[in-house]
Amino acid sequence: MKIPILTALLILLFLPVSVPCTAQESHPAVEGSTHRSLQPVPDKLVVLTFDDSVASLHTNVRPLLKRFGFSATFFITEGFSFATNKTDYMTWDQIAELHRDGFEIGNHTQSHMGVGADTLGRLRNEVTYINQRCAEHGIPKPVSFAYPGNSIHPGALPILRELGFKFARRGAQPEFAYETGRGIPYEPRGDHPLLIPTTGDARPTWTLENLKQAAVQARDGRIAVLQFHGVPDHEHPWVNTPLERFVEYLTWLKSNGYQCIALGDLARFVDPDDLPAEPWRIIEHRQAELRAK
Ligand SMILES: [Zn+2]
Repeated sequence: MKIPILTALLILLFLPVSVPCTAQESHPAVEGSTHRSLQPVPDKLVVLTFDDSVASLHTNVRPLLKRFGFSATFFITEGFSFATNKTDYMTWDQIAELHRDGFEIGNHTQSHMGVGADTLGRLRNEVTYINQRCAEHGIPKPVSFAYPGNSIHPGALPILRELGFKFARRGAQPEFAYETGRGIPYEPRGDHPLLIPTTGDARPTWTLENLKQAAVQARDGRIAVLQFHGVPDHEHPWVNTPLERFVEYLTWLKSNGYQCIALGDLARFVDPDDLPAEPWRIIEHRQAELRAK
């Protein structure tokens, strides 16, 4: 009697996995682009990102993330005074240590170059430079990109695809004005994976309420993407996060059951090759909705 029950249980156990695979196998024409076992997007999924190679990301953020069991992406640039000011910017050895800890190293261009019509011709070189520096320090070729200064341009999408990026984070503009630090959740069904919006852009005036306002949007298939700079950040005071405030944020996320991942970890939930035909459509739709409010 036990064997049929066990068999039935095994069938039930594997049913949700085997059904989509069988469906794919019977349609070999679509295999390759969609034949993946993606996990459904859970509620309370947060992507943590840290920009600009700031020294405090190694001294303060690294041990805190490890203590809380959170992953994150560090977007690396050699812009600003990175080359000479090792008080305020990480060394490449420290960046490599972040990689060895299991954090993701993302590309933020060599010179922190704003992406626009006038700079598109330099994008390949700017990106390849950081990729080469990563290779020299045993860091895998980045698959995640963050637009410096949150400046975006449609012409960047084919270039970033060609350079092998799976995901790219933008700011909350044009839907929200930069000054507010407010943003929109990433909607994998509509947002292009190379135009992932920022849901919350941490500012020195932020309190736990601002963090909560961003994080609680991570539900119903939407993902909250948080953008931080230094903790603290003496070189970029307009995006500074005080250390005690950051501890408060992480404590709240942890005690409220949030899962914090790197941008590249989205590949567990989202197919980066599944591209919307009209990448700007969802942005324009949101803008129209916000205007109507
Ligand atoms: Zn930046």
